[in-house]
Amino acid sequence: MKNNKTELLVAALENGTVIDHIPSELVFTIASLLELEKLGSSVTIGYNLHSKKLGKKGIIKVADKYFSDEEISRLSIVAPNVVLNIIRDFDVVEKKEVIIPDELHGIVRCGNPKCITNNEPMPTHFHVVNKEEGTLKCHYCEKEQNKSEVKLV
Ligand SMILES: [Zn+2]
Repeated sequence: MKNNKTELLVAALENGTVIDHIPSELVFTIASLLELEKLGSSVTIGYNLHSKKLGKKGIIKVADKYFSDEEISRLSIVAPNVVLNIIRDFDVVEKKEVIIPDELHGIVRCGNPKCITNNEPMPTHFHVVNKEEGTLKCHYCEKEQNKSEVKLV
């Protein structure tokens, strides 16, 4: 068995999820959106790995954890192109893509300073009114924003 650094980075996972094709600068944002710091299982983060497609990429491997569609949808604002490989018994049994949901709860901030969500301790709530263009509408103040201009909570 070869034992070099490359192989250690891609060491097989018995059960869990491998999140691949992450732009390097988003690795830690994704780790935080998925609340990986709260998990008890082992998490391996690869950062600035070489990728033909992205130049540099990140990869996150989470043992013994399968994310719900709701958890995955949190990634849709910042990283719509990542792929989640579902691993069972060392095999990729499914590849999940990130799909933008109909609603976002507590993920992005409203850009309207007068919005109640910016003035009261309450979670934000957006309706996704146009999935192709990524148009979000605040449930409370009805301000429309594009996902490229919103900030994460
Ligand atoms: Zn608002």
